[in-house]
Amino acid sequence: MSVVMKFGGTSVADPDAIERLIAIVRKERAPVVVVSALAKVTDELVAVAGLAEAGEAVRAAAALQQQLDRHLAVATAVTTANREQTLAHVRAEFDELIGLVHALAVLREVSPRSLDAVLSIGEVVSSRIVAAALADHGVPAEWIDARSVLVTDAEHNGAAPDMEATRARVQASVVPHTARGGTVVLGGFVGSTGGGLTTTLGRGGSDYSAAIFGASIGAREIQIWTDVDGMLTADPRVVPKPRLVPRLTFAEASELAYFGAKVLHPSTILPAVDRNIPVRILNSRRPDNPGTLIAADSAAAGGPLAALACKRDVTVVDITSTRMLMAHGFLRRLFEVFERFKTAVDVVTTSEVSVSVTVDDTRRLDAVVENLQHFAEVSLEPEMAIICAVGENLRSDPTLFARAVTSLGCVPLRLVSQAASRRNITFVLRDGDVPQAMAQLHEAFF
Ligand code: ADP
Ligand code: ASP
Ligand code: MG
Repeated sequence: MSVVMKFGGTSVADPDAIERLIAIVRKERAPVVVVSALAKVTDELVAVAGLAEAGEAVRAAAALQQQLDRHLAVATAVTTANREQTLAHVRAEFDELIGLVHALAVLREVSPRSLDAVLSIGEVVSSRIVAAALADHGVPAEWIDARSVLVTDAEHNGAAPDMEATRARVQASVVPHTARGGTVVLGGFVGSTGGGLTTTLGRGGSDYSAAIFGASIGAREIQIWTDVDGMLTADPRVVPKPRLVPRLTFAEASELAYFGAKVLHPSTILPAVDRNIPVRILNSRRPDNPGTLIAADSAAAGGPLAALACKRDVTVVDITSTRMLMAHGFLRRLFEVFERFKTAVDVVTTSEVSVSVTVDDTRRLDAVVENLQHFAEVSLEPEMAIICAVGENLRSDPTLFARAVTSLGCVPLRLVSQAASRRNITFVLRDGDVPQAMAQLHEAFF
C-alpha cells in the first residue's frame, strides 16, 4: 500500500529543499507526493490579486515577473533532461496568469472565483517542478493535474471535496501509476468543480488535499512533511521552547488544529478518520526523527495534557435579550443569523439573558450584527483570543480543570468552557494576554 507524502511551502522553498525532498521520497515505494506552492508564493499571489483589485496593473505585472523569475531559477537548478520542457510549462502557466491578472486589474474586480484561478498557479507550477526534478533524479515520477482529480463544490476560497467523485477519478488516474510502482506528484490546495472551474480548499489546504488523496487510495499512512519536528506542546511562535508530542489521538489532533495549531489544517483529520489512516507529522530537515503519530488508538499522552493551541485575534459577540428569559426558539433564531451569513462561531457560552460567542472570520460580521439587533442588544469586543488545552486525560482527571485555571493566576478570563467531549478546556481572553497565559499554562503542564 502506498503512502501519501505532503511537503509544505518551506519544504519546497528552494533547490536545497527540493533536493532534501527527493532524498526523502526516494526511500518510499510508489508514493503519492502532494506539494504546496513554494514558500510565501500564495501570500504573494494574494497580494497580486489585491493590486489587481486596486487597478494597479503595472505593479501586479512586476510582482508576477519576479515570481516567474524565481520559479524559473528553481526549476533550472533542480532539473536536467526535463529542464526545457519544465521551463516551458512554467512560462506558459505564468503567461496565462499575467493575462488574467491584467484583465482583473482593468476591471478592478477580483471575485472569489478569479482569486482561486490566481492562487492555484502556485501549486500547479511547484508540483510540475517537483515532478520533473524527481524524474531527473531517477525516481519514476508522473505529474497529474490535481484540478482534474480533486472534485469540489463551488464554495470558492474554501471548497469542500466531493469524496465519491474524487475517489473515482483518483482510482482511474493515480492508482494505475502507483500500482505499477510509479510515484505520482500532485499540487495540494487546488481542485475544481464538476463543471471544471478551478477551486481552492482554503489557506493551508494542502494538508487537506493530502488526506483526501490518502482516503481515496486507501493509503497506509498520510505524512505531513514540514518545518518543525511534529505537533509541539504549543505554538513555537508564542511559547519559546515547546516539546514534541509523540502521539495524539485523531480527536486530540482535530481539536488542536481547529484551535490554531497551524501545522495541521483543521479538516485534515476527517478523511483520515473515515478510513482509519494514521497521519504522521515529520520534519523535512530532520527526516530520521520520529515526528508525531496521529491515530485512532494512539495511547494518551504521557503527561496530563497533550498540547495547547491558541487562535489569535478573534471577536467576542455578546448578545443580550430580556426576551430570552424562558423563550424557547431564541437560540435557533440567533444561530440562524450566523448561518445565513456563513459565519462560524467557535466558543459559545450562555446565561439566562445573554449569549456570548467568538467569531474568527469577521468579513460578514456587520450584517450579522445588524440582523441580530432586530431582536437583541449586541456588543462586540475585538482583539480577543482563544486558548485551548487539549488532552484525553481531561476526561478522567477532574482536577486538571482547576489546575489549568489556577495556573493562569491573575490573567483576566472573559469566557471559560469545557465541551461535552471533555477533551478540551477553552479560555477566551484579551489577545495581548496570550503570551503570558500560554507561558503560564505551558510551565504548569509541560
Ligand atoms: P507548511 O508550510 O509545511 O504547511 P505551516 O507553516 O502551515 O507549514 O505549519 C507549520 C508551522 O505551524 C510551524 O512552523 C509553527 O510555527 C506553526 N505551529 C503552530 N502551532 C504549532 C504546534 N502546536 N506544533 C507545531 N507547529 C505549530
Ligand atoms: N499554498 C497554500 C497556502 O499557503 C496551501 C498550503 O500551503 O497548504 O495556503
Ligand atoms: Mg500548512
